[in-house]
Amino acid sequence: MLETPHVFIGAAIASKIPDPFIAVPLAFASHFLFEMIPHWNPHLNSETQKYGRPTRRSTAITAVDSTLALVSGSFIAYQALPNTGQALLILACCFAAVLPDVLEGPYFFLKLRTKWIKKWIAFQKSLQNDTTPFWGLLTQAATVLAVIFWLRNQ
Ligand SMILES: [Zn+2]
Repeated sequence: MLETPHVFIGAAIASKIPDPFIAVPLAFASHFLFEMIPHWNPHLNSETQKYGRPTRRSTAITAVDSTLALVSGSFIAYQALPNTGQALLILACCFAAVLPDVLEGPYFFLKLRTKWIKKWIAFQKSLQNDTTPFWGLLTQAATVLAVIFWLRNQ
């Protein structure tokens, strides 16, 4: 799944669960759960196996998605101000929700090929439920919209 929907899910968890000791681990766990929803994202792993690194197009998509994720998470946290505690909880949950993929970043983009990172990627790959770009982006857009709607209505 792209990082932006993961961030929105993390923010939704933060706004519903005030206890950081529950919310942050739950946001982390949400990453794996939502990988099981049929989705599409750049195929960094198969491209790296084929060409030694992700294609330019996938790198560009990843850069845009990561920026959007960062901006969205910061914006939602900003909305919680002046409640600093809540804003920090939102940031922490957003980060926890993308952490499993952040851990993969050095493998794809810094060519860090350690054993544990390969194992981690294989584990995450086993959870992925890939579909075509059309349906796969639609499910993610629906996820983001559902969270926005839900955050606005509480
Ligand atoms: Zn992931």
